[in-house]
Amino acid sequence: MSDIYKSYSAHLQEVYQGRVYRVGVDGLFSCPNRNSDGSGGCAFCDGTGTIAAYQNPQDRLVEISHVTIEERISQIKMQIERGKHFLKRRYRAEQFSLYFQAYTNTYDTLEHLKMLYDHALEEGPFVELIISTRPDCITDEIITLLKSYQDKVHQVWVELGLQSGSDETLTLIGRNHDVSSYINAANSLHLSGIGVCTHVILGLPGEDRRDIAHTAAIVNGVESEAVKIHNLHICHGTRLQDWYEMGEVSTASLRRHVEQSIWFLRHLNPSIVIERMVCETPEYRLVAPRAFPDKHQFLLQLRSTMEERGWVQGDLV
Ligand code: SF4
Repeated sequence: MSDIYKSYSAHLQEVYQGRVYRVGVDGLFSCPNRNSDGSGGCAFCDGTGTIAAYQNPQDRLVEISHVTIEERISQIKMQIERGKHFLKRRYRAEQFSLYFQAYTNTYDTLEHLKMLYDHALEEGPFVELIISTRPDCITDEIITLLKSYQDKVHQVWVELGLQSGSDETLTLIGRNHDVSSYINAANSLHLSGIGVCTHVILGLPGEDRRDIAHTAAIVNGVESEAVKIHNLHICHGTRLQDWYEMGEVSTASLRRHVEQSIWFLRHLNPSIVIERMVCETPEYRLVAPRAFPDKHQFLLQLRSTMEERGWVQGDLV
């Protein structure tokens, strides 16, 4: 439990009186921001999506467009079984959330979305349903569908990738949506009682402390309930790697990421839950940073700096 910022573990303890473990699934979604041959997309994206360490990347078939909906459902069920088994064995987990994690998990027909979410939830019980997506892939119909799950779980969440509160940066990194798209999506989700967790990246090219404070203000403005903070990671095969090799971009040291995270936290409303503060890309995908210490060292340094100086989340809001 931390009183200098609102930690995720403290939040879960408060709401569920215990730990809750996410079962991450890959529903074999694609992404509207990448071309069918895998090119394009965000400058930092290596096209592998994000899946839990205990899931098998081989399960993601190359020609996703050829996979039937029945095959996707069966893969999801297998992933949930495997995920729960792992979490029970490793952590003696008792409470689970269902996390549609990889790629853009609302980018499909409404009929397919309903089938995938319905079948996955049958493998419960789950305390939360968490759907990760892009701000421009939220429609009224999708919100109505997500709202319909509120009687099956305690809370429905959507994780929205904002990354930066600057339209200039979003254009530079090829997000192909703007800040207003994020604001509209978050506001619409809130009207239906759906929680919003916002993803941001600190250390994006050209950004300084003013941009970081501005991103925090945008997140505060929509009353996002939670955030995930990522330090800039450079993966193989990305446009960011090209920029890095040309010397145009650098990644943060431990000291710089601690400083930037503290600056962001101090500008963030104290009620916003901090779900993560360090990116954990597997080594084999990572170009830089190669020598970043583990997240425990990061958290120790962040906490001790804030405590020494009497800083807390939101003290500059
Ligand atoms: S929206 Fe997500 S999956 Fe699509 S290109 Fe960007 S980071 Fe990659």
